[in-house]
Amino acid sequence: MEKSFQVIVVGGGFAGMAAVKELGRHGVRVLLIDQNNYHQFQPLLYQVATAQIGVSDVTRTFRGMFHRYRSAKVLTARVTAVDVAAHTVTTADGDTFGAQILVLAAGAEANFFNTPGAEEHAYPLYSVTDAVRLGNDMIRALDAAQRDDGGLKIVVVGGGPTGVETAGAIAENFKYVIPKYFSAELAAASSVHLVDMVPTVLNAFSDKSQAYTTSRLRKVGVQLKLGSGVTEVRPDSVTFADGTDLPAQIVVWAGGLKAGAVVAQSGLPQGRGGRIDVDTDLTVPGVPGVYVLGDAANMTDARGAKLPQLGSCALQAGKWAGRNIMADLTGGTRQPFAYRDKGYMAMVGRGAAVAEIGRKRIQMQGPPAFLAWLGVHVVLLSGGRQRVSALISWADDYLTHSRSHVVLGRND
Ligand SMILES: Cc1cc2nc3c(=O)[nH]c(=O)nc-3n(C[C@H](O)[C@H](O)[C@H](O)COP(=O)(O)OP(=O)(O)OC[C@H]3O[C@@H](n4cnc5c(N)ncnc54)[C@H](O)[C@@H]3O)c2cc1C
Repeated sequence: MEKSFQVIVVGGGFAGMAAVKELGRHGVRVLLIDQNNYHQFQPLLYQVATAQIGVSDVTRTFRGMFHRYRSAKVLTARVTAVDVAAHTVTTADGDTFGAQILVLAAGAEANFFNTPGAEEHAYPLYSVTDAVRLGNDMIRALDAAQRDDGGLKIVVVGGGPTGVETAGAIAENFKYVIPKYFSAELAAASSVHLVDMVPTVLNAFSDKSQAYTTSRLRKVGVQLKLGSGVTEVRPDSVTFADGTDLPAQIVVWAGGLKAGAVVAQSGLPQGRGGRIDVDTDLTVPGVPGVYVLGDAANMTDARGAKLPQLGSCALQAGKWAGRNIMADLTGGTRQPFAYRDKGYMAMVGRGAAVAEIGRKRIQMQGPPAFLAWLGVHVVLLSGGRQRVSALISWADDYLTHSRSHVVLGRND
């Protein structure tokens, strides 16, 4: 493979994928390097872990995506070092590639905030591998609990959208699926706790959305412990700052994010969350020819407002960076990123969601928000087959509480 390109993009998440598409469309010689040969759709990982949808619904191969762009090449490799001055990246295989312009879009990873035991014993939920491992271990733990006439205790740390969605989906499994697939006794002896150091769930949402979410979570059986941080995670329990403990065979960590290691170790100055502060045009100030995008960056809009770590934001940033790179390559002028704020949403459970749409934050709760959530996720999912397959799984789940994706040992 050639070693020199016009542009190298590290990471094919929402941001990197959109940048490669934009550049590929214009015939730019671009190399995408990702540790996987597929794009993964993070917003639905919790549904993979809870067996509502399958792995193939949330993944799509990069080569399948980009095959029509002859100038775009894909390399499956883990980038281990980035030289932002020389514009080169080195992979775990020892190969070095160079380009006129580097785009770092390697996303984020779980931030355990140095909580003792968390990295060893808690499950992050940031990749398909994480989701499959969590799903498998929940089934193994249910098998063991049934064998021992006990129950499965799960603690989900972090009351943001990921924690809320995960706890809600696990509670629905305990309420509807476990009695059907295992036994009513096992379901009755099992519990899921959602915990956070702040006194509310969905901290970034309105009071109304928070109140709705709290009541729906309680209704489906999620036990809330808010206002006390986790100070230690052990193999069989979690300890809190207020001195109390909760027993738990499984602890899911949705407690925070930091920039992925390869970007954090690139030598670029780090800001909030270990992320790289970028200019409004998505380049790194004082480092010519280097863009940082998506969850790896602290991005702001033209007026200096901080932008969120969201899929829609990363997607738009990738496309925008692609256009600015075209300006770099053709002698044009880079433009400040104009983010179209589509708002926030979170699924709480069957027929229940909260949505705050657009910059005006038009509020929706319950079935209308659930339908809006479905529509947005179907549109955002990459690939027609993935959309149809996810829709079939959702309909099956809605009508029958079936879990056809329970396949143990997929990551063994
Ligand atoms: C569980 C979960 C639920 C979410 N729900 C929502 C939601 O409902 N709505 C929403 O808008 N957002 C949601 N988000 C946030 C959204 O998914 C992220 O903001 C978005 O994925 C960020 O895109 P990105 O391209 O910056 O990074 P990512 O999507 O994380 O992509 C990073 C890519 O870089 C690759 N990579 C990393 N390190 C290396 C390396 N060293 N070498 C090579 N490749 C590397 C990875 O394999 C990956 O493909 C959710 C996130 C999670 C984790």
